[in-house]
Amino acid sequence: MSRAVVFDLDDTLVDTRTAFAAAIDAATRLLDPDLTPERSAVALASWRQDLGGHYRAYTRGTVGYWEQREARLREIGRALGLPGLGADDVEAWNEAFDLAFAGAWAPFPDARPTVDRLREDGYEIGVVTNAQTRVQELKLAATGLDDLPLLVTMDTFGVGKPAPEVFLEACRLLGVEPAETAYVGDELDTDARGAMNAGLRGMWLARPGRRRGGHHDEDPEGARASGVAVLTSLTELPDLLGAL
Ligand SMILES: [Mg+2]
Repeated sequence: MSRAVVFDLDDTLVDTRTAFAAAIDAATRLLDPDLTPERSAVALASWRQDLGGHYRAYTRGTVGYWEQREARLREIGRALGLPGLGADDVEAWNEAFDLAFAGAWAPFPDARPTVDRLREDGYEIGVVTNAQTRVQELKLAATGLDDLPLLVTMDTFGVGKPAPEVFLEACRLLGVEPAETAYVGDELDTDARGAMNAGLRGMWLARPGRRRGGHHDEDPEGARASGVAVLTSLTELPDLLGAL
């Protein structure tokens, strides 16, 4: 029986993909004023798939935040056939990205009702994220979720999920054992399998139509076979937890 439920934030409680789409479109339009919806989609896919593994290098603590952002922008540039980008281009892109990104943050409709229901059922609740504290605090406030404690971020250890210490620190802060804690996130390997490896109950939120593609492990059958619980909406969570 679980006593605590810890959530990933981006693309789990908050619709970050939609916000990324707005941010990538606004920022890339500066470099390519005739950006079509098709080319904007190519840019977004490049960002989300991160085939160069730059964000993962950041969450392993091997490259800096702005370094990985520039590397991913340069991959977008290559995908769109844009000529070499200068320092001014990178700065302008980053500025436009951040502005449009923050302006587009919104919670998924199932986030607040699920959190409230789980609290009524007596679960401790928290958030663990692979992004920076400052951004995530703003995001929680902007989406009306700032009553959820932000337990661990990239700033805590300088490394992120799937490192086991990240999940274990969340349990320690909530005063619960890993075995009585469920972790719910949209990335099968980083979230669900990472949590399982740390001794938590790993749950993969596979929202329909939200696949990332690329190198991401997104196989529901393989996930279930390895003991990961797979859900398609957060509203399934209370019953799923109750059945464990
Ligand atoms: Mg996520």
